[in-house]
Amino acid sequence: MKIFADDWPRKILHVDLDAFYPAAEVLDDPELAGRQVIVGGLGRRGVVSSASYEARELGVHSAMPMAEARRRCPDAIYLRPRFSRYRELSRQVFAIFQAWSEQVEPLSLDEAYLDVTGHLSSPVEIAKSIRTSIRRKTGLTASAGVSFNKFLAKLASDFDKPDGLTVISPTDAEEFLRPLPVGMLWGVGPATAEKLIEAGYSTIGQISTAEPEALTGLIGRGGKQVWDFAHGRDNRPVERPSRPKSISEETTFERDLSSWHEVWPSLVKFAEDVGESLGRWSLSARTVTLKVRFHDFATITRSLTSGQMVRQSEDLLAAAKVLVGRVPLDGRRVRLVGLGVSNLEDEGDGEPSRDDFHTPQMSLWEES
Ligand SMILES: [Mg+2]
Repeated sequence: MKIFADDWPRKILHVDLDAFYPAAEVLDDPELAGRQVIVGGLGRRGVVSSASYEARELGVHSAMPMAEARRRCPDAIYLRPRFSRYRELSRQVFAIFQAWSEQVEPLSLDEAYLDVTGHLSSPVEIAKSIRTSIRRKTGLTASAGVSFNKFLAKLASDFDKPDGLTVISPTDAEEFLRPLPVGMLWGVGPATAEKLIEAGYSTIGQISTAEPEALTGLIGRGGKQVWDFAHGRDNRPVERPSRPKSISEETTFERDLSSWHEVWPSLVKFAEDVGESLGRWSLSARTVTLKVRFHDFATITRSLTSGQMVRQSEDLLAAAKVLVGRVPLDGRRVRLVGLGVSNLEDEGDGEPSRDDFHTPQMSLWEES
């Protein structure tokens, strides 16, 4: 391995904290070390946000209904997320990233790409130094991937989790990719992977030797990009994000859903993700919007605007609940659901602090 990577086209890192929420809980309560720790919604319809590696061994993963997690891990410690604490740790970690590069692209509270191309130090040394700093300053462990583009850097950081460091150099890339399953290609979700596998492409190596036109015929315009990724090519820049005017999350279901009960876990996840994004930007929102697309592609949005600024996931979820109540399904099936916020403002310093077990402010969203 060339340590200085002088001949790499770019030097990109992907750094990702290991099981961040449970790890933060263990940090603050060392008695939890080595235990199955599961963080998420504890209500009747709660979903798992993140599970410690001990719980993952029993098949618990994020977005799993909490009831299922409890079946698999009856002896685990179950905790609600404490986002204010996670944000505090996240700020310390991002300060470390920013000390090494101005080009930092956050993916979530605990994960980012860094472009260190212009740096004199080798990217491997930078990754080692970042991992050491994170451990010293926060007590948390992070995994890092070092490569010459974003796709490979992220793949690398995932390769040896937890507490790993993996390097994929330009000369190693194709060999590294060849045996991996197609589902590990960026942008290939379960449905696309299934199509590719049915057509005889189950490894990334098989994709790389295919004709790009054959892939395009199979999965559409994304086929060329998948082919490029299979060859380890990815020109996407590491982008410093600009301050958003609105934040939203949405998903199209694999099959249309016929009840709000089935849709709800997605809204719980979105409320959490949108709340996390608001926190990252130190923004609060005045308006919450629910978007629903039905099986016949008819699409509606319903919004609530509050006199008070909100940013907590619980408040977003309370709004979602009111909005869901305004959209009777009447036999229609749900193809897509989304949750978003707009009318964003910088959060003042006078924000009332709330404890982590506060009751959502249902009154904010009462029908007027
Ligand atoms: Mg992580």
